[in-house]
Amino acid sequence: MILHGKPVQERVLADVKAGVAKLKAARGVTPTLAVVLVGGDPASQVYVGHKRRAADSVGITAQDHLYPEGLGQAELNALLRRLSGDPSVHGILLQLPLPKGLDETSALAAISPEKDVDGLHPTNLGRLLAGEPGFVPCTPAGCIEILDHYGAKLEGAETVIVGRSRLVGKPLGQLMLGRNATVTMCHTRTRDLREHTRRADVLCVAAGRPRMITGDMVKDGAWVIDIGVNRLETGKLAGDVDFASVAPHAAGITPVPGGVGLMTIAMLLKNTLAAAGNLAGAPWP
Ligand code: NAP
Repeated sequence: MILHGKPVQERVLADVKAGVAKLKAARGVTPTLAVVLVGGDPASQVYVGHKRRAADSVGITAQDHLYPEGLGQAELNALLRRLSGDPSVHGILLQLPLPKGLDETSALAAISPEKDVDGLHPTNLGRLLAGEPGFVPCTPAGCIEILDHYGAKLEGAETVIVGRSRLVGKPLGQLMLGRNATVTMCHTRTRDLREHTRRADVLCVAAGRPRMITGDMVKDGAWVIDIGVNRLETGKLAGDVDFASVAPHAAGITPVPGGVGLMTIAMLLKNTLAAAGNLAGAPWP
């Protein structure tokens, strides 16, 4: 089965749209997301455009804060603190990666945890580790949403995650633990990757290596979530999973594009509505 992201995205966005309308009617609040982009990275500019259009479609206001490369750390942190204190802003997204010379950890810490809709502030990462409610990073949350939508069983599942980044792999491991999966985290120092991936009932790959997971590395009946987005020399996009050789083995597999990528923005908007609801004293859902 191909695990298309589109129907899952549409369901989440429909829920968010209804929630936005309810919040506007009840409290007169329009959820507002501030998107901060430093530098002219073309891929980031495309993402920012997608975010604005998706926000518009559900009634969320997206403010773009675009700054040229060369913005200093102190100025960036001050901007993020100003947005954190601005009552008309409910969610803040700092577009990553930042240009060289800017420290992501320092900038992320300048965002109020209550407006940290990307779930990357140390407080929210700590809440995730502690199993407490908080904002969860959007891409890992989207992976779980897809698995739930298509009926994958996570409790007790041997789950193997390739990649241990702060953005994807580590938070996804915590979410899986929270769902009572048995989790193995793999990375570049893992001795025999294939030995691990072949055991997986659920295999999630976020390594940024085009088509590195091939059919011989996947157990029959596995659920395969491909998070990788890689631009090939031909200009085409490819995931970290070799779809052609893996699909015949998989119970379910996400395509790239059209899989997890569609979920990230939907989860961001869901978090923005939740932030606006919390700040207005009308928690959602
Ligand atoms: P990252 O920060 O570069 O981390 C990559 C991780 O993969 C690292 O932990 C690295 O191990 C591991 N890795 C790399 N090569 C490996 C190999 N050959 N064998 C085993 N592990 C390996 O990347 P990221 O930000 O997590 O992103 C990963 C991919 O997901 C990228 O393609 C990115 O574009 C994509 N992504 C997609 C979305 C979306 O919305 N769909 C969102 C975010 C990211 P070490 O720690 O040992 O270096």
